[in-house]
Amino acid sequence: MKDLEDGTVLLLDAKRGKIKVAPTDAEQAAFTKKIENAAKQAEEYQRDAHKPAITKDGFQVEIAANIGSVEDAEKAVAAGAEAVGLLRSEFLYMERLNEPTEEEQAEKVGAILEVMGKERPVIIRTLDVGGDKPLPYLPMPHEENPFLGVRGVRIGIERPSILRRQIRAILSQAHKGHARIMYPMISALDELRAVNALVREEQKNLGVEHVEVGIMIEVPSAALMADKLAQEVDFFSIGTNDLTQYVMAIDRGHPGLAARADALHPAVLRMIELTVRAAEDAGKWVGVCGGLASQIEAVPILIGLGVKELSVSVPALPEVKHTVRTVSMEESRKLAQAALDCADTSDVKDLLKSHQ
Ligand code: PEP
Ligand code: MG
Repeated sequence: MKDLEDGTVLLLDAKRGKIKVAPTDAEQAAFTKKIENAAKQAEEYQRDAHKPAITKDGFQVEIAANIGSVEDAEKAVAAGAEAVGLLRSEFLYMERLNEPTEEEQAEKVGAILEVMGKERPVIIRTLDVGGDKPLPYLPMPHEENPFLGVRGVRIGIERPSILRRQIRAILSQAHKGHARIMYPMISALDELRAVNALVREEQKNLGVEHVEVGIMIEVPSAALMADKLAQEVDFFSIGTNDLTQYVMAIDRGHPGLAARADALHPAVLRMIELTVRAAEDAGKWVGVCGGLASQIEAVPILIGLGVKELSVSVPALPEVKHTVRTVSMEESRKLAQAALDCADTSDVKDLLKSHQ
């Protein structure tokens, strides 16, 4: 791409991750038509965006949004979000050079809870930095393998004063809406217990009633130990972006390999199934907030596996809702079982194509 001359026309199909260099006039015209059709479709989906997502045989799936700001929350409500399944709290202060105070953090969390209202729960994920996400005010020592290093909840455990300020900020605003707290990248029970203890302590200090807590399932050890972890949380949310990276041992940002880190690999789907079964046995619910939930063709597989909440990118909300309405739970369960039985990602994709 670096060798392209200035003025070269490119067609970028962001949905399929494809670029066409110097297309012919006919290709350009076809592409423009495709964009117009997609815009018309989007308008149609938006018309029903505020109705619930219920399968043909009567199962309701909660459709939530992934957000990173107060503005995202407003857009999510307009696009029909029934909840926030993932507030990436690190995005609230990405550009700052110093750590926001407890009051500053509280202000933004409170504003988001107010936008979403009491009817729409908001899952606030505690700071998830390290690895691919550096924060200017949290300089990290160089690590050989940052994705396997001090990342996600490990930072909060290593520097509890930062986590404590964030937890206090969230708890102080909980009355403004329906706040839930979630810890990223839990890999073992002792991490969960350490953060749960801190949350309980601050709940007591601030006189705040029970706030639901959950963890992200994005490390294989957490999926494998989900039965034990489920005893100490209210919910799980599966982060398929990281889960795929760790299951497949492929860096999610690797320029040459990332395309092979496909969340539709049966190994990842089996991890999701394991997690859902363990949660169901413990009477807990499971959502998916990784990119797989926004992938339209994956929706029937996820709901067929027993996922109760899909948390998706804001622009995907109306279409994901529409997709749920076009399938039945009975078909979706069969499809999910067939996908689990596939030998490779390409087989899962062939299965999905034959199902369309
Ligand atoms: C994930 O890993 O799937 C996820 C939702 O978290 P993030 O993409 O923010 O790491
Ligand atoms: Mg993640």
